[in-house]
Amino acid sequence: MLTVAHVSKSSAPRLARRAAASVGRWQSSRGLATPSEPYDAIIIGGGPGGYVAAIKAAQLGLKTACVEKRGTLGGTCLNVGCIPSKAMLNNSHIYHQTLHDVKKRGIDVSGVSLNLPQMLKAKDEAVFNLTRGIEILFKQNKVDYYKGTASFVSNTRLAVQLNEGGETELEGKNIVIATGSEVTPFPGGGIEIDEKQIVSSTGALDLQEVPKKMVVIGGGIIGLEMGSVWTRLGAEVTVVEFLGGIGGAGIDEEIAKQFQKSLTKQGLKFKLNTKVLSADKQDGKVFIKTEAAKGGKEETLEADVVLVAIGRRPVTTGLNLEKIGVEVDNKGRIVIDDQFNTSVKNIRCIGDVTFGPMLAHKAEEEGIAAAEYIQTGHGHVNYNTIPSVVYTHPEVAWVGKTEQELKAAGVQYKTGKFPFLANSRAKTNLDTEGQVKFLAEKETDKILGVHIIGPNAGEMIGEAVLAMEYGASTEDIARTTHAHPTLSEAFREAALAAYAGKAIHF
Ligand SMILES: Cc1cc2nc3c(=O)[nH]c(=O)nc-3n(C[C@H](O)[C@H](O)[C@H](O)COP(=O)(O)OP(=O)(O)OC[C@H]3O[C@@H](n4cnc5c(N)ncnc54)[C@H](O)[C@@H]3O)c2cc1C
Repeated sequence: MLTVAHVSKSSAPRLARRAAASVGRWQSSRGLATPSEPYDAIIIGGGPGGYVAAIKAAQLGLKTACVEKRGTLGGTCLNVGCIPSKAMLNNSHIYHQTLHDVKKRGIDVSGVSLNLPQMLKAKDEAVFNLTRGIEILFKQNKVDYYKGTASFVSNTRLAVQLNEGGETELEGKNIVIATGSEVTPFPGGGIEIDEKQIVSSTGALDLQEVPKKMVVIGGGIIGLEMGSVWTRLGAEVTVVEFLGGIGGAGIDEEIAKQFQKSLTKQGLKFKLNTKVLSADKQDGKVFIKTEAAKGGKEETLEADVVLVAIGRRPVTTGLNLEKIGVEVDNKGRIVIDDQFNTSVKNIRCIGDVTFGPMLAHKAEEEGIAAAEYIQTGHGHVNYNTIPSVVYTHPEVAWVGKTEQELKAAGVQYKTGKFPFLANSRAKTNLDTEGQVKFLAEKETDKILGVHIIGPNAGEMIGEAVLAMEYGASTEDIARTTHAHPTLSEAFREAALAAYAGKAIHF
């Protein structure tokens, strides 16, 4: 192992205890343990789906409670997902840039070293502040917060095992299940996660030393983000992926290839079309046995740390769904209709635990819509315009259809592309990798998909989402003034290339 600076204990437990103490005080002072009136809405789970549903429901005038067992609000996203991973991505990027990129910008630095405990502390502080912020939002919006584990007694009644001990029962006219997802274990149980040597994304966000060699099983978004973090901090990272390309579902194949080239230049190694068979711990190392996906050639990789990032599965254990008859499909997802109703009256479901992409913003949109359905009978989520972002450098972001999907569906389409190499701001910033790619319907010019690899792609995709939400054409974008010099001019020029057949600056 490559040891960095002195490793102190993570500050996470201390921060969590501080949060727990303050919430406990608030909970008992408000006498939440024995509600006499039924709630209009009870939300199970305080992740992005659940906490947003609770706040929206309360804002719409519903007497609302949220039950969360974790001890902190924010769910996977704020505690062990989006937020800590972005803290590590941002700070590892700055470290890497300081070491390898600033000299050519006229900045001479010396004596740069990694203080991993401080980087982990910065991550924990971001998590603490944001999760605590949601408690404050709950108080401001008068959402009652129960720290405990909920299970159904009937379609309007929940038993809550309180974290601080004891049990309470809550009555709700409407109940929303937002219990989220958890790491999918390795199939067949051959690889046991210990969160030290064989880790899930949760362990990968809290490694106390930089591993010399790391193997990432799974080349989807989480695997690539965490692989990038540890590569930048000095690990030799190999990503093993069963499929022939990286980036997971929904990525455009052309962009995925460009992305892989870029990550390879940064030092990540890829073994595509490769199946992991087993991982055995021996003498402080892990030996990962692989074979070609189609069978045949076997290989053994050696690693100090293995990250298992093969996906996430819905969480329904302990909810007692069988007792009340809530239908679950063969992938463990709760079955819902287009108004988030489950198969049982008064019970709705949103977020990772049901259909659709496992993304925080998708869960949030569903949380708002579910609350609106309960109170007003109307709500809306446009599943055609849910963006995806990979927060590596360059970032990758997309919305709508990929080129391969349009081909498969026999849609007549046109493309418009613009490389950041020809964008003045990207050139000025010495950050020119990537491109913007538009896909539009040939006959109507309507935008069907936008795919970006490049600096700030995750912010820029917002413009594509808005355009598609309003049914814009590439001409609409091409005729919209974009400030100069900005990266967003590349967005406009790609639209121009799709609409007029030619960009101005390329
Ligand atoms: C490493 C990582 C990085 C990620 N990065 C991103 C990203 O950048 N952008 C993005 O959009 N998404 C990202 N995601 C995905 C995102 O975190 C999830 O899509 C999102 O959290 C789903 O929200 P949710 O509310 O459906 O469920 P969750 O966030 O999983 O919340 C569900 C909550 O329900 C609680 N719960 C479960 N059962 C019970 C019960 N019986 N009683 C009480 N409480 C219960 C759980 O404790 C949990 O806190 C990432 C995920 C990971 C793991």
